[in-house]
Amino acid sequence: MSHPHALLTGWLLAAAVLVPAASATAAEPAAPDHGYTADGRATLRQLSSRFESLAAVHGWKQEDVYAYPDAPGFEIRAWRTQRAGEALWIISGIHGEEAAGPNAIAANLDALVALERLGVPIVLLPLCNPKAYDRNWRYPNTAERDWRKGGYSVGDAEYLLPALDQPVRPRAAAPPGPETEALTQFVLRLAEQYPPRLVLDLHEDELSTEGGYIYSQGTRPDDSPVGAEIIRLLVAAGIPIRQSGLTRFGEPIAKGVISRDAEGAPIRDGSVDELLAAPEVLVRGERVRGPAAPTVIVVETPAFAGSRFDLRVDAQGSVVRHAPELWRLSPARE
Ligand SMILES: [Zn+2]
Repeated sequence: MSHPHALLTGWLLAAAVLVPAASATAAEPAAPDHGYTADGRATLRQLSSRFESLAAVHGWKQEDVYAYPDAPGFEIRAWRTQRAGEALWIISGIHGEEAAGPNAIAANLDALVALERLGVPIVLLPLCNPKAYDRNWRYPNTAERDWRKGGYSVGDAEYLLPALDQPVRPRAAAPPGPETEALTQFVLRLAEQYPPRLVLDLHEDELSTEGGYIYSQGTRPDDSPVGAEIIRLLVAAGIPIRQSGLTRFGEPIAKGVISRDAEGAPIRDGSVDELLAAPEVLVRGERVRGPAAPTVIVVETPAFAGSRFDLRVDAQGSVVRHAPELWRLSPARE
């Protein structure tokens, strides 16, 4: 097989030159350099050294969101611009086996630095599930990918989101895991200083053999100009798009965009994306104002067995590279 490694080699060498291995992490254990790479993904250490350049070279703030007590080197980390205010948020790696997003972000940090230089505040959570990424697992706590078999999502925000039938109560009593609690609490805290205008969450769908699609959430989910542009970018990058029909959850797809559930209600998946879209959240039982992002787009590239990793990275990379245009298309907060 000709290999997607070739695609990554250039910027990894560049990263090695720019950021000596120990510079940004002298006090922390180094990220592992030997995990799952059979699909062409970079190792955790290669990704980390690239992301660390945002702090070491460009002066962004770097923060540990969660450190696994039993697994040194597997921190969930965030980077953000010095400038706070209405912000672009980019999230990826929620599901560990969906490797294209984190690799695409690592290869296209230049676009984010360019946007920051225009004065746009940015929050970046590029690899939210480092343990599962390293093992090609989906969830942090089990190799099982079927959620009915005990896995929980690092982005599960149901303990903060109103119940569907009773909005004064949370949908779940507690977060399912410690990293989940840390990640969702970090998101709520940062959303105060960096209120989200546009959220991009880069996922993949290994069960979709028919094409890619996006979820459009936020306080303005319908006819999103950002969503339409992302579909255009994916098509231009060679990703087939599902034009119509239903997802396996019964949600209607319209020209690659899903903005309503099977009942025609807004998408309420209990995820960190719903949290960033939520006008109202429940903190220790109190109803408080939520992050209320106008536009939240979840990108899903098809990642079935045999699909080309380099093509998926390039398609997701196109979305990251066009962050400045997507920002300009996104409506401001009210
Ligand atoms: Zn996913």
